[in-house]
Amino acid sequence: MQNPQSELCCEVLRRLQAHGMLNHLTLIGSWCLLLYRQYFERDELFSGLRTRDMDFLVTIPLAIRQKIDVPALFKDLGFLIDYKGTEGYMQLIHPEVMLEFLVPQHGREDNRPYDLPQLGLNAQPLRYMDVALMKPIALKFEDIAVGVLHPACFAFHKLLVAPRRKEEFKRKRDVEIAVELLALLLNRKKPIMPNGGPDCCGNCSHNRAVQEMAHPHPEQRELFWKLSFCTLRDVAVPNPFWTYCRNFVYGKRPEERNPQEIPRGWITASGLYEGYVRIPWNDKNEPAVSVPATCCICGRVTPEGITVMHNGEQLGFCTNRHYVRWWKTLHRYNKLRECMFETPEQRYQEKPQVNSDARTMGAGM
Ligand SMILES: [Zn+2]
Repeated sequence: MQNPQSELCCEVLRRLQAHGMLNHLTLIGSWCLLLYRQYFERDELFSGLRTRDMDFLVTIPLAIRQKIDVPALFKDLGFLIDYKGTEGYMQLIHPEVMLEFLVPQHGREDNRPYDLPQLGLNAQPLRYMDVALMKPIALKFEDIAVGVLHPACFAFHKLLVAPRRKEEFKRKRDVEIAVELLALLLNRKKPIMPNGGPDCCGNCSHNRAVQEMAHPHPEQRELFWKLSFCTLRDVAVPNPFWTYCRNFVYGKRPEERNPQEIPRGWITASGLYEGYVRIPWNDKNEPAVSVPATCCICGRVTPEGITVMHNGEQLGFCTNRHYVRWWKTLHRYNKLRECMFETPEQRYQEKPQVNSDARTMGAGM
């Protein structure tokens, strides 16, 4: 752990978790930005960010059945109760961290504190939280999973509240953050977590990075990626958490792996998203996914296709299906069939629009 502030925040979260409270809370405010470094896999993001406020949104206040005296829960850590502004919103303050609680504001403008007697707190009502809460995600702070606003919702919420800000510099800052987040989302190719399955090279004993580092600790991510190399197949693995093969051995004790094991089947990658599907590498060439491509099967041009190197030439594909059709002309793998994947018509939703447009145009001419 890096500093006294994060140690303290960790303890706060741990205690809330132990009391079943984290299910009812979503982190909002600038703390989300800290956790987005993990989401975008970019430790340098928002580097100027210094934040003492840790803001929790009580997602559905009426859903909390348990009784917990929250101020008492943190008293021995040195938190004191304070009241903010003319409205008297409660805060728990500490030299390192300030805890605030908020609730979604519905209906007419009423800024009086919202009483949360079951928690020994009052909370500040906040506008537009329905938008902010549309797609919450869980991110980890140290080893604790915390509910956080989705970056897109965070950005959208900032844009909604910016015009209501009194100070101009805050308005400007809100918009800047929103724009930065949206740009990050636009440039982001894949989610970082191995949602495609835990049986990936990032967890496999045959991966040199696993042998040497066990896991990618947040501050050593880059090194882990750089070291990722399959010692069994003798090939670099640029996307360890999105690459799979049948020789997977869970990496708890890499020294117990059998380095003489015979490679079975093909290395696979996560394909274009249509649910999580896997597509085979072209021998030692990893297909690049969600990249601009012109399909060599059907000629479709797409910003989100597949490319792969073959005999020194780059080939493009519009869909997993056309990639697999081409791949099967070179390799044998009976279990893999192109009918398992979306057709280009399904993916690009072509049929209905094309027909009705053609008819309208015909009638007009
Ligand atoms: Zn195609």
